[in-house]
Amino acid sequence: MMVVFLGPPGAGKGTQAARLAAKYGLPQISTGDMLREAVGAGTELGGRVKAIMASGDLVSDEVMLELVEDRLAKPDCSGGAILDGYPRTRGQAATLDPLTERLGLGEVKLVLSLDVPEEEVVNRISGRRQESAAMGERDDDKQEVVVERMRVYRELTEPLVDYYRDRSVLRQVDGVGTIDEVFGRLDEAMREAVQQ
Ligand code: ADP
Repeated sequence: MMVVFLGPPGAGKGTQAARLAAKYGLPQISTGDMLREAVGAGTELGGRVKAIMASGDLVSDEVMLELVEDRLAKPDCSGGAILDGYPRTRGQAATLDPLTERLGLGEVKLVLSLDVPEEEVVNRISGRRQESAAMGERDDDKQEVVVERMRVYRELTEPLVDYYRDRSVLRQVDGVGTIDEVFGRLDEAMREAVQQ
């Protein structure tokens, strides 16, 4: 089953996607983590995307499609996957279903939109910034970069909520509460989708 996570930066997608993936035995595909790994390992891809990521902008749809296609073609994805951070543009969404169909994974069946007010995500990210500064991680959590990531989210990614609502696969989930509370809501949506 193909599942997509949507939500603003700092909504908790990564944490929740990992828990859901473990519970349902599906691989979690985090494009942000994959790109950060490429940057860390100094690969050719890493070199191409480093500055774009540091500024809070999006890597091109072409580069992302290639990355996601390679990953979804791996044997561990044969039963589907949980996508965390992809698609992030209409272009990415438009090519995703043809890709997953071609790979025999079926269309996206469930889109979990984690709803968290902007004020709350800004607070959460500044908390994360203090932690990650201590660990030398994620320079894209800097204040001005967070502002740019929020702008990019509103402009390019938020329209995907309507896109998937129109296709009747959207489940909006309240992302405010403890990690366990939010997980409970997501798990319920997931259970229903599995039964369908
Ligand atoms: P966030 O915490 O904002 O959700 P991610 O960890 O998912 O961030 O991604 C970090 C950065 O990686 C993004 O700001 C962007 O530059 C790049 N990136 C990740 N996924 C995509 C994507 N699907 N399309 C384009 N760029 C992406």
